[in-house]
Amino acid sequence: MGFEKFGRKSFTAVTKTAKFVDFLGEGKVEGTVCKDCGTKFFPPRADCANCFSKKMDWFEMPKRGKLETFTTAYYAPFGFEGDPPYSMGVVDFGGGLKLFARMSKALKPEEIKVGMEVIVSPIKYDDGQLSFEITKA
Ligand SMILES: [Zn+2]
Repeated sequence: MGFEKFGRKSFTAVTKTAKFVDFLGEGKVEGTVCKDCGTKFFPPRADCANCFSKKMDWFEMPKRGKLETFTTAYYAPFGFEGDPPYSMGVVDFGGGLKLFARMSKALKPEEIKVGMEVIVSPIKYDDGQLSFEITKA
């Protein structure tokens, strides 16, 4: 499987990190880790930005973290007109590992607070597309 199954709108299908979407289908959110220097990346990278090694491995992202910041969108770009309002946030897992994602529609904007404990989960949309989102812990 390639990236054609990822997200609400199509992405380029062929990338060196397309296995990311297979992992989402298995219920896992994975990043990559450099086998030479140990630097972790999310979104996953095929090459290490720290030491330029091509020897990368996959690791499962932590499930729980703290919400570092968020924003709520009341207008959306073309293709997402039916979505607002929706919120997007950055989750800090510690050790420099962070993740940016949409927040679950089940979370109302007024419930979202910086510093709250959150969980990152894979999701499957009604049309079969895969992604991941932030929910309340
Ligand atoms: Zn490296």
